[in-house]
Amino acid sequence: MTTLENKVALVTGGTSGIGRTTAIAFACAGAKVVVVGRREQEGNETVRLIREAGSDGLFVQADVAKEADVEATVAAAVNKFGSLDIAFNNAGMLGQNASLAEQTEQAYDRIFAVNVKGVFLCMKYEISQMLAQDNGGTIVNTSSINGFRPLAPGFSIYNASKTAVIMLTKTAALEYASQKIRINAIAPGPIETDMLNQATGGNSKAFENFVPAGRLGKPDDIANAVVWLCSDSADYVNGHTLAVDGGVLAA
Ligand code: NAP
Repeated sequence: MTTLENKVALVTGGTSGIGRTTAIAFACAGAKVVVVGRREQEGNETVRLIREAGSDGLFVQADVAKEADVEATVAAAVNKFGSLDIAFNNAGMLGQNASLAEQTEQAYDRIFAVNVKGVFLCMKYEISQMLAQDNGGTIVNTSSINGFRPLAPGFSIYNASKTAVIMLTKTAALEYASQKIRINAIAPGPIETDMLNQATGGNSKAFENFVPAGRLGKPDDIANAVVWLCSDSADYVNGHTLAVDGGVLAA
């Protein structure tokens, strides 16, 4: 069984969906977990579930698009648990399903602020902290299979933002590989969460026909892969974007 004993993990977007499930999986593997998001009640519920799983947690209310929030979040994590060993930069937003000419400048700015600048800011402060420790660390960023290719018309801004996450990941991995910091990305296929419900207008089951595995993904499918990427078993995996998609990209 994978162990993350004595590790401190930070999860952005830990208030629901993939982030909450991964936060609990980190806890089950023995890590203490800092949960980050804007919704306080949901964040505290994730911490309750972390404690129920036998570990300890902390909720930090923050908007990942704001530098001061991100800097304070990393400081709060270190203040509470003494170090930062693992980060899952998973917070993201989808925007509207519309063709490109119908999209707005405001939508572009907000989606890139959360999905791209948010990952940049998180990595900036997480890496600085990991460099200050002598044992390095590991980071996983959430991209999407839509960062490789659009699966359908619409969501052009979101798709472009998820491609940007892949390149931020690869470049940062190259920059810090020699300093014991591994940085990878995960590219989920259609996973049963609030976001998929939004993307499909409440008709997510219709997506099953497009998945070679014949089923939608569950948050646990992503959590299992992220826990492995953050473990010593993946010590030689760096700069990689792992699709966890039931075979969608292979089709
Ligand atoms: P979700 O349940 O809607 O989760 C999105 C999370 O992001 C929430 O916890 C939300 O928390 C957080 N978030 C959004 N904006 C934020 C901000 N400005 N600052 C801090 N946190 C913010 O959906 P999900 O499917 O689990 O999404 C998680 C990640 O997976 C996203 O990056 C998404 O793009 C990616 N993804 C999902 C799928 C899928 O099919 N579900 C597929 C590919 C990729 P608050 O509202 O509390 O801030």
